[in-house]
Amino acid sequence: MTPNELSDFHWAMQIIGDLDAGLIVVDHEYKVCAWNSFMQSYSGITADKILGKVLFDVVPDLPEAWLRRKINTSFKLNSRGFSCWEDRPYLFKFKNFSPISNSLAEMRQNVTFSPLTSVNGEVSHVSLIINDVTDIAKNKIHLIDSNEKLSNLSRTDGLTQLFNRRYWENCLQNEYERCQLSGSTSTVVIFDIDHFKRVNDTYGHTVGDQVIRHTADELRKASRASDICGRYGGEEFTVILPDTCASQALYFTERLRKKIEKSVVSCEGHNVKYTMSLGICELSPNQTSYMNWLEHADKALYFSKENGRNRSTVFELSLIQ
Ligand code: GH3
Ligand code: MG
Ligand code: MG
Repeated sequence: MTPNELSDFHWAMQIIGDLDAGLIVVDHEYKVCAWNSFMQSYSGITADKILGKVLFDVVPDLPEAWLRRKINTSFKLNSRGFSCWEDRPYLFKFKNFSPISNSLAEMRQNVTFSPLTSVNGEVSHVSLIINDVTDIAKNKIHLIDSNEKLSNLSRTDGLTQLFNRRYWENCLQNEYERCQLSGSTSTVVIFDIDHFKRVNDTYGHTVGDQVIRHTADELRKASRASDICGRYGGEEFTVILPDTCASQALYFTERLRKKIEKSVVSCEGHNVKYTMSLGICELSPNQTSYMNWLEHADKALYFSKENGRNRSTVFELSLIQ
């Protein structure tokens, strides 16, 4: 080496040493030929312990088969490879020291594999550059989390955590269209607490709210995961029962009605008993739109109210004739 070449080499080594990324160079036998200070400080393995040794012998918890494949590809094809934290969170299990990366205990890493050619043009080594992308990963995870929370907020009712009216109606429209296309049978239920004004007037709004919450909890318990439950208005609830006929829905509403009839809501020193009335409508050609489907369920609910309350009614055409 000329003095110039020597100083170039010296500088290059200093830059590599100061790099805020891990740098490893391996040969055909996966023997380590470079291991910079980033790798030393995060792994706790000093260069003299690893240089000249097979990488997998010194760092045993690496995904060996995968890593061999990646390195071999760079050797054979003389092309760069990449591994992204979203597919493989990390290659080297390094502790994450960043105080703000609370949720991520291990450093997230992007890894670039580059072939290094010797003077005769053959790939003699492959370098691995390990980039710490923990902060990027953390921000992305936070963003996904926030978006999910926002979209949950925009479709749920604050008091009951059931779907709100707007979102539930959207689901009803989808279900109506799905049934039109597939010819499946689904049923809508609407129910309303009986004499709820009395609950508010006698015990106050806080107790009234607790009764609404209790109703939602019982609805959640009684329904299946595929049922779509909403709080339609003040003390009115709606449920879509996909692939369910009216008689199965009646079984569901009667079970729920009896459960409510038997339960006692204890709040602010009061023990409140209450009932509710329900209407059921199975989708048939008699319903000309999704809102008409709900209107017919509401007619059945009205019939329950008019005929003594605390009961379920299945819609039939005579109710509107
Ligand atoms: P009916 O048996 O005919 O249904 O009689 P009702 O007294 O229940 O009559 P209605 O369904 O019209 O009563 C609705 C009442 O619900 C009126 C309103 O003050 C009350 N309400 C609506 N939203 C809320 C709420 O979020 N919390 C409380 N505590 N009360 C509410
Ligand atoms: Mg009402
Ligand atoms: Mg009511």
